[in-house]
Amino acid sequence: MLRGRMFGTNPVRKAVRDGGGVLWVQEVFPTLQGEGPFVGHPAVFVRLAGCNLRCFWCDTEFESSEWRPTVGALIECIEAARGPGCDLVVLTGGEPLRQDVTALLTALLAAGWRVQIETAGTLWVELPAHPALTVVCSPKTPRLDPRLEARIDAYKYVIGAGEVDGEDGLPAVSTQRRGAAARLARPRPGVPVYVMPRDDQDSDRNRANLATAVAVAREHGYRLGVQLHKLIDVP
Ligand code: SF4
Repeated sequence: MLRGRMFGTNPVRKAVRDGGGVLWVQEVFPTLQGEGPFVGHPAVFVRLAGCNLRCFWCDTEFESSEWRPTVGALIECIEAARGPGCDLVVLTGGEPLRQDVTALLTALLAAGWRVQIETAGTLWVELPAHPALTVVCSPKTPRLDPRLEARIDAYKYVIGAGEVDGEDGLPAVSTQRRGAAARLARPRPGVPVYVMPRDDQDSDRNRANLATAVAVAREHGYRLGVQLHKLIDVP
């Protein structure tokens, strides 16, 4: 399993719309979902390679794999990684909607998996209308794709101390350029919002980020997430 740190050095990659018979995959691994609506659930994570954005604090490696499985081979790998009580696949990245994942989603849902997509929300691929599909969006840009926006079931925001809007407690700074002001896309009314402290790799900064996340959650009725997978040291 690859655990690199890119911190805003990744190439910005275009969306690929090629039918999705073969996908570029960074890794597949069983774990506990660490954040969002399925926090604590056993899950198989599928990390798709490449991203169309470059967030300066991104601490995920999603570029170093040369693995390009067919959808069938990928599903076999997912099944092999399934642990006890696990019926959840989390499609993450990079940006999972950068690749043509409709065929993969359709096959996973037909096989009885619940599927959670973790996306930044700027790209669209056809998503099956299925009750077991959950879209969690963590906006990194001021605008989202409107077709995707209509399908979002929950929002996640990464919170940094001193970087939130006084009105709604959500980020007021760019994810793409450190220190630049930006108003990231705001949640659709009525959709749950999770806030998580940003990991700045610095204990003082992280304490301040956590205090800010707690404060905005209490003030605005958001749900606090603390990235369980980092606390318990699982991937
Ligand atoms: S959108 Fe997500 S995966 Fe892509 S660079 Fe930003 S944090 Fe990393």
